[in-house]
Amino acid sequence: MGAGMSGISCALSLYESFDVHVYEKSRGVGGRLCAKTLNDRLFHFGAQFCKAQSSSLQNFLLENDAINFIGSSFDCEANDCVDTKNYFVGKRGMHALLKNYDQILNIKFNHRAVKVDEKNKLVHFESGKSESYDIIISSMPLPQAQKIYESKIEHDSKFSPCIAVGMTLNGTIDNQHNAYKNIDKDVAYLGSSHFYNDENKTTWVLQFSPNFSLKMLNEPDKLLQTKAGNAVKGIINGDYNIAHAGIFRWKYALCSRSNIKNEFTHVSKDAYAIGDWNISPRIESAYNSGKALGKFLAEIKV
Ligand SMILES: Cc1cc2nc3c(=O)[nH]c(=O)nc-3n(C[C@H](O)[C@H](O)[C@H](O)COP(=O)(O)OP(=O)(O)OC[C@H]3O[C@@H](n4cnc5c(N)ncnc54)[C@H](O)[C@@H]3O)c2cc1C
Repeated sequence: MGAGMSGISCALSLYESFDVHVYEKSRGVGGRLCAKTLNDRLFHFGAQFCKAQSSSLQNFLLENDAINFIGSSFDCEANDCVDTKNYFVGKRGMHALLKNYDQILNIKFNHRAVKVDEKNKLVHFESGKSESYDIIISSMPLPQAQKIYESKIEHDSKFSPCIAVGMTLNGTIDNQHNAYKNIDKDVAYLGSSHFYNDENKTTWVLQFSPNFSLKMLNEPDKLLQTKAGNAVKGIINGDYNIAHAGIFRWKYALCSRSNIKNEFTHVSKDAYAIGDWNISPRIESAYNSGKALGKFLAEIKV
């Protein structure tokens, strides 16, 4: 269940030895690798880039048309540029890095799982449909996985929210860097689309910090846009107007780093849970979590 990075990396490790069925609640792949086209422009509302340390993930990303981060990223707290050598991005949006697997894995979209009957080995969907299974794997964020499983998932991970604001800046813009992080206590990040595509029309995304996002999660758009606009003006010089394009409110955005040393969770007999939260709030952790469970299940099958 779930076609984000962990679900897809797990399904790919399994589909040659098992009859794998992937169900995804939304219309496409990606999960928190999320980019949306608004008024003909692309906005990265979820993960911005993927730092890939392992050659396995680097190869996976390159096979899926990832490119290196373009330009520089500046850490305002450290007052220094970030080393972006191993940062990979999707030229057509981060979700596009998983697009090839729609068909290879025959993913069933618009299938929201609502309950897993662990005793009778049935998964129930919002549509009223049910499917039986031999082994079930959730790749959802921990709080969402807990809602559908009957068994308590023993884990230490905690999720925080994130509000992401999409904007275009019209006029003369004088930005030295393509991304800025740790801007102040309320604003965690501001980035232009130039770091993943310097040909398209430029868009900007600002992400509020976890604490500020939590405080503002239910506040009106106008307030968030004003706050975002002021933050942009504080960091980007030039003579420009800001046009707001959309706001994305992630209830479960970033997980804490786990102290549990397992890359996946065994929930109950034949029921598992994968996802970044098993390790840390990174795409690479999601990839590793899915792959680790795939390897484990392939080994016990033999
Ligand atoms: C705003 C933001 C910025 C980030 N920035 C970065 C970054 O720059 N670099 C980085 O490495 N990481 C970043 N991350 C974290 C990164 O996005 C995640 O670590 C990674 O994408 C998690 O993948 P996953 O497969 O574990 O979970 P998800 O991507 O959440 O996948 C879970 C999937 O399950 C589906 N699903 C949920 N409920 C159901 C259901 N009931 N039935 C069926 N399907 C369901 C979801 O739609 C989703 O597709 C960021 C995250 C956010 C939100």
